[in-house]
Amino acid sequence: MAGFVDHTGKKVGRLLVMYRIPRQPKDRNVFWHCQCDCGNTTIAAGANIGKTTFSCGCLAKETAANLLRGNTNNRTHHMSKSLEYRIWGKLLQRCLNPNNLKYPIYGERGITVCDRWKDSFEAFYADMGPKPSSVHSIDRINNNGNYEPSNCRWATAGEQVRNRSVTNFIEIDGVTLCVADWVKRLGFYKSKPYEMVKKRKSAKDKTPRFESVEAAVRELHRRHMLKP
Ligand SMILES: [Zn+2]
Repeated sequence: MAGFVDHTGKKVGRLLVMYRIPRQPKDRNVFWHCQCDCGNTTIAAGANIGKTTFSCGCLAKETAANLLRGNTNNRTHHMSKSLEYRIWGKLLQRCLNPNNLKYPIYGERGITVCDRWKDSFEAFYADMGPKPSSVHSIDRINNNGNYEPSNCRWATAGEQVRNRSVTNFIEIDGVTLCVADWVKRLGFYKSKPYEMVKKRKSAKDKTPRFESVEAAVRELHRRHMLKP
């Protein structure tokens, strides 16, 4: 079996597809590690995702129970649309999914997510608590450390800049912008600076590589200024 559907990052029913499970010799199907809105994790066959599989099994159980009770409200916890849930989903993606735009500066640099958080949104929420305000985001206290309770806190952008050795904000010729805004201003695709820091896949690949996203943005700015 050469090709298979890449479900990584998809939200199907209650499931968020996290990553593909390495295949065993006897497997005829491709299996995916999924996080269910109820807090459980489950392994689903790729061919069934979105066809017969929409949850860890909790959905069918609840639907049956609710039908007996005459109750049609079948949500478990009400967090799946919350900011905290989205933040948790994104940090898993950038650390664990090699296809994610930001993987080169997280997963590939060795930054990972502790097992407790990898497998459970509820554990993440229990440790971090609610995001205090709209200007707070998740901050790793040691910028080279992992996503784990001892290294994470909610912090404002100002607190993060003060804390961090490498910030997302880049100052060039008196203008300070975040990476996304620089790329937009310079007229490149948003993935451009991330691609410029990716490891080379083979010795044949001679395109220049940069040590950091900031160095890549500075190079893009330099090229932009050279344009007639
Ligand atoms: Zn479930």
